[in-house]
Amino acid sequence: MISARDVHKSFGSLEVLKGVDLTVATGEVVCVIGASGSGKSTFLRCLNGLERANSGEILIGDISLMARETDINKLRQRVGMVFQHFNLFNHLSALDNITLGPIRLKSVPKAQAESDARKLMALVGLDDRADAMPRMLSGGQKQRVAIARALAMKPEAMLFDEPTSALDPEMVREVLDVIRNVARNGMTMVIVTHEMGFAREIADRVAFMHAGMIHEIGPPRPDLRSAPRKADAGFSLKNFVGTAR
Ligand code: ADP
Ligand code: MG
Repeated sequence: MISARDVHKSFGSLEVLKGVDLTVATGEVVCVIGASGSGKSTFLRCLNGLERANSGEILIGDISLMARETDINKLRQRVGMVFQHFNLFNHLSALDNITLGPIRLKSVPKAQAESDARKLMALVGLDDRADAMPRMLSGGQKQRVAIARALAMKPEAMLFDEPTSALDPEMVREVLDVIRNVARNGMTMVIVTHEMGFAREIADRVAFMHAGMIHEIGPPRPDLRSAPRKADAGFSLKNFVGTAR
């Protein structure tokens, strides 16, 4: 579903991605962990064309993001993105946030878009907040609207960039529950997260990013949380536990 090979990205003289490789199968959930500044957000933004990689290859399905002839905006509709800071349209109600994309970008009739949006609001547990403006919603509710908004475009894959990092602790669970529910529905997902317990539970594979490269990737180990940290093991997931923030 998603294939990135030797992706490089620099901002001026700062090389942020130094050859990232990642393949995500249809229906697979990959969690990406790594210290702040290691390039996780830049990589996700490259995956859906918000940033243009300098070199390498990125395929969504069988369409290349790097090819000149590719319509990035069309391709981006196939890959939903959820940001740390929600990025809702503050002047639109929850429902209108969700219907905007389908109506404007996919020409879905308004009544159909609204009926779909109400179903999605029920899926994220917000059926009673359709008319609420973002300022009336808690952080957890806003993030659930953002997830519903991404799903409304019927994406083939979803990218989450630290979806719970901006939330008060008591709201983390409700958002993780929604993400888990989406995963159980078979969605292909890449999730950047510091929630190690969640990553271990939900991920088919966990990727460890460091200094612009994925250094290790594999299934989460059941003993991850209790494993003692070894000082000499290099780039090991075990080493990373507890050092994310
Ligand atoms: P992470 O999400 O892992 O914290 P980022 O991808 O946000 O890492 O950032 C990696 C590096 O790239 C950081 O040093 C950051 O300052 C830099 N960076 C990110 N976006 C830009 C940008 N638009 N312009 C210049 N530097 C950037
Ligand atoms: Mg980031």
